[in-house]
Order: sequence, then structure tokens, then C-alpha cells
Amino acid sequence: MKLYNTLSRQKQDFIPRQNNVAGIYSCGPTVYNYAHIGNMRTYIFMDWLRRVLRFEGFGINHVMNITDVGHLVSDGDDGEDKMEKGAREQKLTPWQIAEKFTQAFMSDLDALNIEHPEIICKATDHIGEMIEFVQALCEKGYGYETSDGIYFDIGAFPGYGKLSRIDLEGQRAGARVEINDEKRSPEDFALWKKAPPEHIMQWPSPWGQGYPGWHIECSAMARKYLGPRFDIHTGGVDHIPVHHENEIAQSEGLLGHEPADIWLHGEFMLVNNGKMSKSLGNTYTISDLEMRGFSPMHFRYFCAGGHYRNKLNFTFESMEAAKTSYERLLTLIHSHKNGTDCPDAEVLKKLRAEMRDAIADDLNIPKAIGTLWTLCKSPCKSREIYDTVMEIDSVLGLRLDSEPALPEPETPDAEIAQLIEQRQAARKNKNFAEADKIRGELRNRGIELTDTKDGVTWKRI
Ligand code: AMP
Ligand code: ZN
Repeated sequence: MKLYNTLSRQKQDFIPRQNNVAGIYSCGPTVYNYAHIGNMRTYIFMDWLRRVLRFEGFGINHVMNITDVGHLVSDGDDGEDKMEKGAREQKLTPWQIAEKFTQAFMSDLDALNIEHPEIICKATDHIGEMIEFVQALCEKGYGYETSDGIYFDIGAFPGYGKLSRIDLEGQRAGARVEINDEKRSPEDFALWKKAPPEHIMQWPSPWGQGYPGWHIECSAMARKYLGPRFDIHTGGVDHIPVHHENEIAQSEGLLGHEPADIWLHGEFMLVNNGKMSKSLGNTYTISDLEMRGFSPMHFRYFCAGGHYRNKLNFTFESMEAAKTSYERLLTLIHSHKNGTDCPDAEVLKKLRAEMRDAIADDLNIPKAIGTLWTLCKSPCKSREIYDTVMEIDSVLGLRLDSEPALPEPETPDAEIAQLIEQRQAARKNKNFAEADKIRGELRNRGIELTDTKDGVTWKRI
């Protein structure tokens, strides 16, 4: 089983540290709004990771956090807390906002057939662990106090930047003027923020009332549930240059070694080849798609069309194509369910191996789906093929055992009504030849008319 490690920029064999069990930490959502389809792409990728690992025989100990405090609107440690902003805009408390959008996120997970990680932990339930972490960092000389918080001193950590391989000097040459002039270095980041009185979420700490920085949340919870060193850390590519860089600095600063062996990052979803953003009105949610006739499985299948390390461009045309393709696949699979033919054992074995090799090669789901199509297109209808599909679906999670949707009627109701109207008009004009012709045409399409004293009724036969 091979995975691409962002840290080494190489694919490497996956060898878990403990008893064949994979310890995984995934950065979870900030619950201040509904998750959009880009966010959900990242969680589908996370789900494929755990399903593939299990298929390959590993046990799973998977932790995902819920960020319900401390994630500021700007990565530069200034600006409002996203939770407080959401609360203000929606006239709820931050606690209500957290509850509402955590539940919405859980429903999205279920709709998309994303398995729940073994542990889902909220930042606000772990403030004690975070304070302890920050104190320990300060004792080791990595943290310093300013008038608005406690900051991590990247000057004290020479490895800073190794995940993103950023050239800090080069970057600074063109950087904006730093707002917070108490910071020793522009990349120093907040471990703890002192809360102004109006900040609703705040806790007592050795530095007065305050709340944790976003990055310390993940370091503290990963350490608590997975220990000082675990196997895999996941997130979206936007996390590489700041959030994960900072997590490494904190954890390695405290523990003396990297916290995770493999860093996996899911590429972004684009809409019409551009960024998803509220101002462009293109941040669709799973329920937006449902309202337009696309099921969560159509969306999951759409995501399966791109490797997790490539950008995936969402358009409604490509979504429509994914829907048609998924429904055709279900019909094909269904045709094997009660099949009694005998497939060529050698071919079946080869295709199975091909699918398995694909998923074990850095989660190449699109390649596995390609082979799945070859398998399903087999003219010999066989239960063995059906069972093989179900086996691979334990990884794909596409609910391939669903009943195929009924084919669209060839003549829609509206068209029938129109033809009946034309027939009635012909009869009124005593053009009985035309009226009979229309009746005949409808009968050829499997629609039978009955003339009653109250008008014409019809049924499909
Ligand atoms: P957030 O709730 O903002 O912390 O984001 C939740 C997850 O979604 C993170 O892992 C992000 O990296 C990821 N994410 C955000 N935008 C996109 C996008 N357009 N495509 C894919 N993943 C995204
Ligand atoms: Zn995180």
C-alpha cells in the first residue's frame, strides 16, 4: 500500500507504527456555516483513505476534530473569530451556531456514505489540554507573550517551513507590512489569544481570559487521542502552508520529533475553473445539488472521477454526465444480480487484481472505477461479477447495490396530454381519420385511450 507524503514529496509504503492499526488524524470542519461541495470532496477523500486501509487489512483508529472556536477569518491572526462572526450574522450564540452546523455536517457525512471517524472531538471540550500544551511550549522557549496573546516563535524552530518548502526570506521581500509589531517574526502565530470583553467564547488561563489559536487545537487533540507520534495526518491543500506547518512547529517543538509520518492533502474543487466563493454565489451545498435533482451518490461518483491529488472542476454539465453514468452503472450491475452465466475465471481474477492495485497505489479511485466498468460490461451475466462489485464497493462507498432508477418514460405526460388535445380538436372538426391516426400513434407508444362521458382517460400498457 503506497501513499504520497507531502512532507517527502514521494510515494512511500504504508507501515503503521502500532499493531497493524493505522492512527489517522483529519482536520475537521469549522462549524460556522454549511459545508460546501469542495469541503465535502475533502471528507470523501478522507473516507476513501480509511476504507482502502481497512480493505488492505489494517485496523483503523481515526480522529477528526470539530473546530468550534479560534479559527479567525484571516490566517494572519487578526480579524474576527469565524464562530463569533457567524453568530453575529445569524443572530444566534456561537454555541448555537456550533450545534446547528455540526449537525448539518453530520447529516452530510451520512448522506455521502462517509463513515464516522472512531473519535470526533470538539475543540471547546479540550481547552485544558490546549492550555497545558501552550504552557509547555513557553517553558521550552517556543512561546512568548504580547499584549494580545501568546505567540509561537518560529525563530526558535529551525525546521519551520519544511512541509510547504516555502522560502520565507523571498516571501517577505514582497510581503505587506505586518500589522502586529509586537511579533518577533511575521510568521509567528497565535497559540492563545487574550479575549476582549465582547468575545463570547472565553476561558480562564494563566494569561487571563482568552481562547485558543486554531492550530493548537489540532496538535493538542491529536496528541491526546493518538499519542505523540501517529501514522497519517490529512487535510486540504490549503492547510499545507499555514495550518499544518504550524501544527508541525508546535508538536515537534514540544515533543522533539514530527507528530505524523505521512501528510496527505486533498486538492481543491473548482467551480467553472475558478475559486468557489460566496461573492460569486457558487458555493453549492449537498442540499443545493439535491434540489437540482442530483443525489449525494451522484456527487460522490462525480468526485470518484478525479484523483484526490488533482484539482476537480465542478460544472453542472459534468455533474449531469456523472449522474447519467452512475445510473447506467447501477443498471449494468443489476443485470448481473441474478445471472447464472459463468465468467472467465482468469479475466475476473485479472480485473480484481487491477482494481486492488489501483486503490493500493495512492488511492487511485478513478482507475479502479474504469476497471469496474470493464467488469460490469461483460456480456456474461453472473452473480460472481455482482459479488465482486459489492466487494470493491466496500471501498468505493457508492451504494452500488441500490436499485437502478426506473427509466424515464419515452413519452412524457405533457406530450400525451397535447396529443389528446389534438385528437379532441380533430373530432370536433369531424376529422375522424386524423383522430384515429393520433389514437393509433399513442397505442404504438404503449398508451391506451378510453373515451368516457366525462372526457378521455389514458393509461400506459
Ligand atoms: P474549513 O471548514 O474551512 O476548515 O474546511 C474544511 C476542509 O475543507 C478543509 O480540509 C479544507 O482544506 C477543505 N476545503 C476548503 N475549500 C475546499 C475546496 N474548494 N475544495 C476542496 N477542499 C476544500
Ligand atoms: Zn487541523
